[in-house]
Amino acid sequence: MKKRSIVNELIQVLYPDDIKCIVCGREIHPNRYGLCGDCKLDINVNYCVRCGRHKVGTGDHCDECAGSHVYFDEARSAVNYDATAKDIVQRLKYGGARYLAKPIAQFLLDILLLSDWRVDCIAFVPMHAKRERKRGYNQAKLIALELCEHIDAPCISLLEKTTATVNQAKLDRAKRLENLKGTVKADGDPPDNVVLIDDVMTTGATVNECARILKRAGAKSVYVLTFASVPERPLLDAPQTDISLFRR
Ligand SMILES: [Zn+2]
Ligand SMILES: [Zn+2]
Repeated sequence: MKKRSIVNELIQVLYPDDIKCIVCGREIHPNRYGLCGDCKLDINVNYCVRCGRHKVGTGDHCDECAGSHVYFDEARSAVNYDATAKDIVQRLKYGGARYLAKPIAQFLLDILLLSDWRVDCIAFVPMHAKRERKRGYNQAKLIALELCEHIDAPCISLLEKTTATVNQAKLDRAKRLENLKGTVKADGDPPDNVVLIDDVMTTGATVNECARILKRAGAKSVYVLTFASVPERPLLDAPQTDISLFRR
């Protein structure tokens, strides 16, 4: 485990960023996950062994993964993408709340430490340069960098987004795949075992395309780690947000 740099420690002292609960905003005693005693995230425990999303059945795989080909070896996701997780992700992405990358990385660290994955480097889903300039950062990269503060592997930019894709949110899985083709390219040679970071997995089309490119560039294994993932049964736009309602 790497020691935090002195500069980072100083920034923490000058601008402490983890004294408020990441869900309710209440002042808290700093803790790894940035949560107060009353707030919880819906930890993803019953997941598909391939894509890592919450599954509804009792088998190892979700219905979508059973029999389908994906390029990544395994994916895991810390929490289910319910309204609470969505709010955190949106503040990180669109609200300038970069400090959220730190508690998010702690959730990912827990998964990584329990996994048997070989990790040569941590990579992240790229953003188009124009979009990244506009936002000021790539949130997946922020999470990856935070994660690397705690493990003995470097964060490497292995992919480049060559075309700004139109908003994927309203497209179905097939259209997303089509929309993504040729929009990502390898940026250098990947090491053998890559862990790819993203904030959210919805259909998995984005990380799958990234994994395809990484494998084509020479990676032997690509593991995917995301903070949140949409459970097997889509619920994002449903008025109720308690995902237990959707479980059998
Ligand atoms: Zn709270
Ligand atoms: Zn699956």
